[in-house]
Amino acid sequence: MTAVQSSAEDRGGELARRPRRRTITGRPSLLVVYVPTVVAVHVALLAAGLVTASWRADDLVTFGALVACGAVCIEATRRLGIPAGVARDLLSAWWLPVALLLPPVYALLMPIPLQALLQFRVRRTLVYRRVLVASAHGLAGACASVVFHQVVPDPLAGAQWVMEACPEVAAAVGCAALFTVVNAALVGIAAHAANPQGRWRDVLWTRESLLLDVVELCVGILVAVTAALTPWLLLLALPPVMLLQRSLMHQQLQAAARTDAKTGLLNAAAWQREADTELSRAQRTHAGLAVLLIDIDHFKRVNDTHGHLVGDQVLVGVASTLCHQLRDYDVVGRFGGEEFVVLLPGADTVEACRVAERLRGRMKRLAVPAEDGTVTVTVSIGVALFHTHGEDLIELLAAADLALYRAKSSGRDRVCLPALDGPRASEA
Ligand code: GH3
Ligand code: MG
Ligand code: MG
Repeated sequence: MTAVQSSAEDRGGELARRPRRRTITGRPSLLVVYVPTVVAVHVALLAAGLVTASWRADDLVTFGALVACGAVCIEATRRLGIPAGVARDLLSAWWLPVALLLPPVYALLMPIPLQALLQFRVRRTLVYRRVLVASAHGLAGACASVVFHQVVPDPLAGAQWVMEACPEVAAAVGCAALFTVVNAALVGIAAHAANPQGRWRDVLWTRESLLLDVVELCVGILVAVTAALTPWLLLLALPPVMLLQRSLMHQQLQAAARTDAKTGLLNAAAWQREADTELSRAQRTHAGLAVLLIDIDHFKRVNDTHGHLVGDQVLVGVASTLCHQLRDYDVVGRFGGEEFVVLLPGADTVEACRVAERLRGRMKRLAVPAEDGTVTVTVSIGVALFHTHGEDLIELLAAADLALYRAKSSGRDRVCLPALDGPRASEA
C-alpha cells in the first residue's frame, strides 16, 4: 500500500466524521463519479475473467500460497496496532508475484481477500475507501499481468524466463513499475479529488515514498522469481519479508509518534524536544533565536459556519503555508487546536518580526474551498526573542503567549512582541 493510499484513507476518515458533507471541497461530484467508475471497471473485468478463465492446478496452488503469505503478514501487523497514517505494509511483495506469474484474473481477485482481512482484522476504515484501494490494486495488477504475459506467456512453466536477463527479467521490472504507477495514479486521483489544494507531487510521490516503492518492487520481483521456481520456496521468502515489513512498520510508527496526524507537522512533544536542541546550540554559539506562536483568528466561526471538515482543511492549509514559507531548519509544530509554533534559529528581533509579518500576509491569501464559496482566515502572532524575553524554552513560550494575547486583545491579524511598553511589531 502506498503513502497515497494512506492520505486517501486519512481524508476519508475526516469525511466519516461528517457524513452529511460528502467532500470537503464543495465538489462532491468528482469523487462520487470517480470511485464507482473505478470499482465498476474492476468488477466488470473480474466477472469477465472469472467466466472465461481456464483454471489450472499450478496457478491455483501458487495463488493460494501467495494469498496465504499476504494473510500471514497482515496478521503479523495486526499485533503491532497500526494507527492511521502508517501505510507502507510491503504487501506488494505478494501482489506483484500474482500479477507477474498468474493470468490477469488472479491479480483482479487477489486484493479482495487481503483488503477484507485488512478491514476486519487490522484497521476499519470507510468501506468505499477500502473498495477503491482494492480496485486500484486489482486494476494495476491486471495491467502488469497483461503486459508481462505478452513477453512471457506462461511464467510458471519451467521458470526459464528467470535465467534470461533480457528481455524477460527486464520486462518483469518494467511491469512491476507499471503496477506501482497505475496503482498510485488511480488512488492519487481520488486523493486529489478529496483535497484539490494538495500538490500533485505530494499526493503521488515524495522522495521517501519513491524509495519505498523501489524496495517493494525489488522484494516483489525476488518473491516472484522464488515462487516461479516452486511455490514451496515461499516458505523461505516469508520470514525475511516479515522482518523487513516489521522494521518498516517500526520506522513508520516512530515517525507517527513525532507527527501531528492532521497537519503532518511536529506534534507538541516532538517540537519541544527539537526546540530544546536548537536552544542549547544557540546558547553554545551565542546565536540569536526566536519563537513565534501563531493562532488562527476566530477559528471557531469557521467550524460553526462551514463545519469541522473545512476547519480541518484550513489547519492543513495553514500548516502547508508555514512549511512553504519557512526554511528547512526552522522548527515548525502544531501545539494543539488552531495554534502553531515556530522556532527560528539565528533570528534577531528584526528578522523574527519580518518572518512573522510575511507569514501573516501569506495566511490572508490562503483560500480553502468550501461548499458555499471559499474560506479565508487571518492569524495573530506572538514573537519572543532568546535572551531578550526568556532564557529557556518555558520562558520563551510564556513570553510568546503573552505577545499573542496582546495581538488578540489589540484587534487580531497582527504581530506583537511581549513587552507591554516595548514596540508593537505590527498592526493590521
Ligand atoms: P481567537 O481569535 O480568540 O483565537 O478565537 P478562536 O475561535 O480561534 O479560538 P477558540 O479558542 O475560541 O476556538 C478554537 C476552536 O478551534 C474551537 C475548537 O473547536 C477548534 N478546534 C480545535 N482543534 C480543532 C481541529 O483539530 N479541527 C477543527 N476543525 N477545529 C478544531
Ligand atoms: Mg484562535
Ligand atoms: Mg487558540
